Amino acid sequence: MSTAPHTPAAGLSPATVVVSAGRPAREQGGHINPSVPLNSTYVSRGVVTPDELSYARGDNDAWHPFEEALAALEGGGEAGGGAAGGGAAAPATAILFSSGMAAIAAAFSLVPDGGTLVLPRHAYQAGMVLARQISERHGVTLRYVDIADTDAVVAALDGADLLLVESPTNPMLEVADLPAVLGAARAAGVRSVVDNTFATPLGQRPLEHGADVVLHSVTKYLAGHSDVVLGALVTRDAALAATLREHRTLHGAIAGPFETWLALRGLRTLALRFERAQASAAELARRLAEHPEVAEVRHPSLPGDPGHERAKAQMNGFGAIIGVRPRPRPGAGDAEAAGTGPAAVERADAVVDAVRLWLPATSLGGVESMLERRRRWGTEAHTVPEDLLRLSVGIEDVEDLWADLDAALRA
Ligand SMILES: *Cc1c(COP(=O)(O)O)cnc(C)c1O
Repeated sequence: MSTAPHTPAAGLSPATVVVSAGRPAREQGGHINPSVPLNSTYVSRGVVTPDELSYARGDNDAWHPFEEALAALEGGGEAGGGAAGGGAAAPATAILFSSGMAAIAAAFSLVPDGGTLVLPRHAYQAGMVLARQISERHGVTLRYVDIADTDAVVAALDGADLLLVESPTNPMLEVADLPAVLGAARAAGVRSVVDNTFATPLGQRPLEHGADVVLHSVTKYLAGHSDVVLGALVTRDAALAATLREHRTLHGAIAGPFETWLALRGLRTLALRFERAQASAAELARRLAEHPEVAEVRHPSLPGDPGHERAKAQMNGFGAIIGVRPRPRPGAGDAEAAGTGPAAVERADAVVDAVRLWLPATSLGGVESMLERRRRWGTEAHTVPEDLLRLSVGIEDVEDLWADLDAALRA
């Protein structure tokens, strides 16, 4: 019996691919959902080819349906990837990891000892901490850039080994000019990795803009229910895929079959969840921008947002993460107005304490709306305002979300 997942032909909308990809082969009386195969080893003798299963840390059929579906999504909707419009691009391959951080660690392993890594000054914090450790232990030079400043990114590529892009960034929601920075990296012979966690493959497909590797914290929107931790890398480069897979095998950061099954189940509703979350986020951002208790809102949907035009050009929607700074209390000083100081922190924390529906929690991309003050983490970049709240908009009724947020801001 074939264990290869079945994915329909090219040309389907991503909203269809999330439902149809990675199903079992269509046999009479066969399963419509993949099973949860539980094996640490497989029957094997003699010399094993790369396509054969032998030991479950190296390759595991529990991963294949999800990997196939994610490859189809990031590769442009085609079974096993392929360029949009049927171009000559190689098929995309997805490699599942035990967490987004395991995927980041594998991506950073592409930088040689003594090499140079270009990275956004605002990006996922644990990734930044890992970059600093690698820098100290392996003599890697770190060049931080404002990822929205294309000239600065291009200048930093000189002699670099790897460019890490986040867009929109966590938590400042800066938007990179993906075609420009990824094209420049390619021209300079610098490999690029785009963390596509915030946008999802429904919001943007970085491989089509020239990225070598796309990275996901599957924990967030792809799985979507705040019940698993997983990560993934996607690439069209077969040699790179082999290197990244070998990293996974040797470092052992592999996904469990149950978690993988949950992630695929979550992926089935990604299009619906993300459509609702994005629409609600745009509506909440619009209302927050007019709220008397709000000092600043960041969301690329807002016409005045620095990332608005770019996001409109390269994204499908604007994502469902919002940055908000509450207005300081009357009589507050200049520091509070700038978002720093104990009074500004207290004001932002009071909003987190006052919500009743929004969950006070870290993480994002689940069906439940969540918020947190990002600088409560000591590792968050110090250029992020101390009173910045990051809101992850879920799929609840937007009026209920608004009523709770409005009351918390006025409390
Ligand atoms: C959460 C997150 C990660 C890390 O993923 P884990 O699954 O938590 O290991 C990486 N990048 C971004 C943008 C994230 O939000």
